[in-house]
Amino acid sequence: MNLDRVELHTHLEGSVTPGRLILLSEKHGQPQLPAACLSSDGKTFAFEGFGGFLDLYKTATTVMRDPSDFHAMALDLGQQLADDRVGYAEVSVSYGVLLLRGLDPLPVQSALHEAAAEVHENLGVKMRWLPDAVRQMDKKWAWRAWEKAGTAGRGLGVVGFGLGGDEAAGPARKFASLFAEVKAEGLGVSIHAGELAAMGPRARASVREAIEECGADRIGHGLAAATDPLLLATLAARNVFVELCPGSNLLTGGVKTYADFPLQAFLEAGVPCALNTDDRTMFDLTLDRQYEQAHDLLGLTKSAAAAMQEAAAAAAFDKVV
Ligand SMILES: [Zn+2]
Repeated sequence: MNLDRVELHTHLEGSVTPGRLILLSEKHGQPQLPAACLSSDGKTFAFEGFGGFLDLYKTATTVMRDPSDFHAMALDLGQQLADDRVGYAEVSVSYGVLLLRGLDPLPVQSALHEAAAEVHENLGVKMRWLPDAVRQMDKKWAWRAWEKAGTAGRGLGVVGFGLGGDEAAGPARKFASLFAEVKAEGLGVSIHAGELAAMGPRARASVREAIEECGADRIGHGLAAATDPLLLATLAARNVFVELCPGSNLLTGGVKTYADFPLQAFLEAGVPCALNTDDRTMFDLTLDRQYEQAHDLLGLTKSAAAAMQEAAAAAAFDKVV
């Protein structure tokens, strides 16, 4: 099997299959829940805009409750990755949401680690984990999430710590001391920033803050940086890798059409970057299709695509092979 791709930005919860969501909803006594999340044929997820997506995420995660739920979701994702030629993936899992629901992230992490071992043995796909905090929640939740992630550590497949959620409602700077600790522990820092074009200049400031105040090794999305040559130059000079997610940005309103995605601005500025799905099933995306569309609509050459994969392997928080 050809597993030559690396993916650094994909969320476990956003990769739950519609079938798994139906099973989990029944298991946890919420059989009506899938109707609120899925299209009428039950095959894809339904939402509108970034706000609608956050609502969908909130609803779907209410039936992800037991370590066994996460184990099953990780096996499902392993299969999706194998089908998509991904041999190495760093997968985000929201410890912030787990804590908010009163769940201990450590047994969940053990289940994920076990599932990753099964996926590696059966499919040859290496999965590593990036727990994250939710930026709009109170700081204490982020610290609890990090304490759990730090405790789990590389022994349970945790290779970094991230920050996700609603960028407009939570500046990264308030987590600066937390990320200093993450780095001191030898783990990677990946922060969602510059995702929402609607934030205007604040979106560019958000990217800058993530780099300068939180020491981000990688930026999730970074879309807003494309209109700021100085910021692009900073990303390139500091070798901060940008996890581009064009299909996701299209669906949540960051760009109007796929062809509007400013891929060439990143490439011309020499910013290390590669394509990602972000939320595979919720957005109904594959990495294969992302690269195909970037080739067809954004002028991504074969050699530039290969260079992206090399850059992604270099920016991984664990050894890719
Ligand atoms: Zn994301």
